[in-house]
Amino acid sequence: MTQYPHLLAPLDLGFTTLKNRVLMGSMHTGLEETKDWNRVAAFYAARARGGVALMVTGGMAPNPEGGVFPGAAGLYTDDDIANHRIVTQRVHDAGGKIAMQILHAGRYAYSPGCVAPSAIKSPISPFAPKELDEDGIEKQISDMVTAAVRARQAGYDGVEVMGSEGYFLNQFLVTHTNKRTDRWGGSYENRMRLPVEVVRRVRAAVGPDFIVIYRLSMIDLVPNGSTWAEVVQLARAIEAAGATILNTGIGWHEARIPTIATSVPRRAFAWVTQKLMGAVTIPVITSNRINTPAVAESVLAERCADMVSMARPFLADPDFVAKAQAGKAAEIAPCIACNQACLDHTFGGKLSSCLVNPRACHETELTIIPADTQKAVAVVGAGPAGLSAALTAAERGHAVTIFDKSGELGGQLNMAKQIPGKEEFWGLVDYYSTMVAKAGITLRLGAPATPEMLADFDEIIIATGVAPRDPGIPGQDGPNVLSYIDVLRGKAKVGKTVAIVGAGGIGFDVAGYLVTDDSPTENLPEWLQEWGVGDPEKVRGGLRNEGPQPDAPVRAVTLLQRKSEKLGKRLGKTTGWIHRAGLQMKNVQMIGGVNYEKIDAAGLHISYGDAREKPKVIVADTIVLCAGQVPERSLADVLIAAGRQVHVIGGADVAAELDAKRAIDQGTRLAATI
Ligand code: NAP
Ligand code: SF4
Repeated sequence: MTQYPHLLAPLDLGFTTLKNRVLMGSMHTGLEETKDWNRVAAFYAARARGGVALMVTGGMAPNPEGGVFPGAAGLYTDDDIANHRIVTQRVHDAGGKIAMQILHAGRYAYSPGCVAPSAIKSPISPFAPKELDEDGIEKQISDMVTAAVRARQAGYDGVEVMGSEGYFLNQFLVTHTNKRTDRWGGSYENRMRLPVEVVRRVRAAVGPDFIVIYRLSMIDLVPNGSTWAEVVQLARAIEAAGATILNTGIGWHEARIPTIATSVPRRAFAWVTQKLMGAVTIPVITSNRINTPAVAESVLAERCADMVSMARPFLADPDFVAKAQAGKAAEIAPCIACNQACLDHTFGGKLSSCLVNPRACHETELTIIPADTQKAVAVVGAGPAGLSAALTAAERGHAVTIFDKSGELGGQLNMAKQIPGKEEFWGLVDYYSTMVAKAGITLRLGAPATPEMLADFDEIIIATGVAPRDPGIPGQDGPNVLSYIDVLRGKAKVGKTVAIVGAGGIGFDVAGYLVTDDSPTENLPEWLQEWGVGDPEKVRGGLRNEGPQPDAPVRAVTLLQRKSEKLGKRLGKTTGWIHRAGLQMKNVQMIGGVNYEKIDAAGLHISYGDAREKPKVIVADTIVLCAGQVPERSLADVLIAAGRQVHVIGGADVAAELDAKRAIDQGTRLAATI
């Protein structure tokens, strides 16, 4: 008997059956733009082998003006069909099903040629769109229908018409972006005409036995968004127009409310989708922050939806469904919703991958194959770099021993998991513990490794991490000064007013930790109130009239840095704004461009500029040092001096801007070669 009876139940669509209730949601990985179709096929085939019922590709533009950026992948011509057929064939050979997403970006297109219902620039693009005339609208419909027909010719099992997240079709629906006075604007019947017409004509063109998913925005989270009555009206019209399945979208891209970041509670929006259940007869899919089989099962068991969509969890582990089926959920590499290697890469113009799985989108290039000779491998350091190296080496057949002076696995991950909004790190540490035990890796924890202990190993991997940088501020040895380690290890008492020296990732994390007592990520009603999300049946677009209402901060915190740039500028591309907004809601003062003069009982003395002018005291009970890190390589230095060959990885190699993504990638790649 499976633990996940709802998740693993088949879904009969009439003309075809999905083998379980899991959809791999669309992700823009950048793979299609590489034009290496073998690589694209390898990515999707791996997920098909892993048991997911249906996958949706990254968004494919129906025409150049609808592309997310110039040169975005699409099915522009009949010549593209052969390339896509490589993908669909490999997916079908692996026992999977795949639908192609038709994505018209409208005013979100990062291109001077973008088009929209009205000439209103979006806040997230520098380009004002051109307002379409009647012929222009007809061309867009016709191009989307042609893309669907080509998708069928390319062997796809269906298409997903992207109608949410504030893209083109969504832009017609709301007066926020549609100011037209013709038959495509004005009344709601007119504003919803385009999406309904697209689905109707797509269905007519592709025939009855082809999956047509429509992705509908459930809660826009922008001013003047759709009302709930409009959402239901549209859903029914889309069903009548011939859609097979309704997928859901949460929030427009320009919304200032996080919807998928790690600080968003798990299944945070399933209650919204649940409102639609019973209003239509076709299956409804829910999405957003569903990342374990247990969470997915609970959503389905509570009838919040007929299916779940997960996207990033399939970057983290292509075998998610197969492992759930086999009763091995603890072996699923968890998506921690960090965005660091997926969305941050996409928005930085880089190929996506995954922090916990560097093989994602690198399936053909980073291969883990059995080693020719089994070796005794010592890994010193049980942080992300060491653990990923150890697991990869063990997978290849080496006999691995992990040494760590601490008594637990995880290294700095154990500090990250203390931060409110970073609770997912608990799951990552648990996953590593499970996999280390399963791999039969020998553990020697609780005492520092010495050169003598390492004498008999064939390979030595040094992953000893980092030590806090000494900022050298006069008075920093005083009783009112702590390092971030003292704070996050929970041992030190912190006063009510705090100054934080250093505003990197850790400075921001420590500030968040110090102003919050109970994490709203663990409490959905509190989180919704904090960010101002309301019931869309009561407030248009799901925006509460009173706006965000966070709990009062539990401490008064000032965050400082020497650089004069905006604080948090170097945080993650897609999550930095959330960290900044979260701290601003808690009245954290952010000050840049300072010199640290000294610390005394009054607090932190600063001045400004090269002339060290405008001296000031930041009055604080406690000063916390978060001034970055330096490599901890004392053991590596001793071994090298003794003539031993060692591999140094992670923070011990380069501490600057170290994060778990770089550490895990480096550890995996090294162990794939030794
Ligand atoms: P960091 O990001 O390098 O930031 C160090 C901070 O200390 C900066 O604000 C820097 O600003 C300041 N600083 C540097 N040298 C200093 C000195 N001599 N005296 C005083 N201040 C000094 O390092 P971190 O905050 O320790 O974080 C380490 C890494 O962990 C980060 O690079 C990050 O990738 C990762 N991390 C990421 C996240 C995330 O949310 N993605 C969260 C936590 C940690 P000034 O030089 O301008 O003063
Ligand atoms: Fe999830 Fe982070 Fe991997 Fe993206 S990079 S898939 S958010 S774990």
